[in-house]
Amino acid sequence: MNTAVAFSLTLVLLSLVIPAEPANSAESPITLVVHGGAGTIVREKMTPEREAGIRAALAEALTTGYRILEQGGSSLDAVEAAICVMEDSPYFNAGKGSVFTSEGRNEMDAAIMDGTTRKAGAVASVTGIKNPIRAARKVMEQTSHVMLVGEGAEKFAREQGLQFEDSAYFFTKERWEELQQTKEKEKALKKEYGSLAFPHTHLGTVGAVAVDAQGNLAAATSTGGLTNKRWGRVGDSPIIGAGTYADNATCAVSCTGKGEIFIRSAAAHEVSALMRYQGLSVEKAAQRVVGDELVELGGEGTGGLIALDRNGRFAMEFNTPGMYRGYIKKGAQPVTFVYRGE
Ligand code: ASP
Repeated sequence: MNTAVAFSLTLVLLSLVIPAEPANSAESPITLVVHGGAGTIVREKMTPEREAGIRAALAEALTTGYRILEQGGSSLDAVEAAICVMEDSPYFNAGKGSVFTSEGRNEMDAAIMDGTTRKAGAVASVTGIKNPIRAARKVMEQTSHVMLVGEGAEKFAREQGLQFEDSAYFFTKERWEELQQTKEKEKALKKEYGSLAFPHTHLGTVGAVAVDAQGNLAAATSTGGLTNKRWGRVGDSPIIGAGTYADNATCAVSCTGKGEIFIRSAAAHEVSALMRYQGLSVEKAAQRVVGDELVELGGEGTGGLIALDRNGRFAMEFNTPGMYRGYIKKGAQPVTFVYRGE
């Protein structure tokens, strides 16, 4: 055996025994980005108190999730914790602040995805679960399934010991009034278009994407869906690839907006696919999906998304007047936004 061949053979053998370097060193730029929904945020209707409350809730979600990342915790734990803060807040359309269905119920959807394994868990049309995102995580980790719905999902959540609340907990005056106003519109439309007239509003949904010190990505989304929804309607949020997606090879994504358009465009996966197959940066991929693809199918005002890559680069794109959103990076304070640029 000549020396060159022996040398290559040694290298091959060495590569078999030395474990590959972990995905990222401790230098990984830990980052957490959240959104609290991209709906019709009308500046004139926003009071200073309400805006301050929303920004404080976003900042609390960011610092809660970030604390976990800072202590070396996983991006999955960070996104779950951040979502729980927003699910517990009355300001967002998720958990406590969920909108009402046409029958006056709160039916919630949530999903979580691990970018390392591409395992995912989701629940849809669930009632009474205080933090649906916890149920989604249990589906991912305790079952061989990806999505559980309705009563079955609730039974599973009880078996897992998750906290339930009665309907009084989920009652917020503002959401109830929203339902009554939407029903008024429905009456007028019915006269014109018949019984299938279905006015609904979308205002909310919460989402989080994070990269941890190991360079692992995770995404999570939770929502009450649309005010006045019926017939068991489910939007994009719990559908992997539509409203939620994470893959360490590309990015983690959480969407908000008119769910049907996000489902039809496989929006979250599309951001990842543009990065993977066209080599686009996370910013460019997000701009393409929100600015072109969503607008093509749903027009302006379709919604928005947050997307993050494992180097800590991220995008917060929307084609609506505003999107509640914010981020936190290593050593910095949380930064929050409501409207474009502020
Ligand atoms: N995307 C959610 C849904 O369609 C609603 C929203 O984000 O406001 O259920």
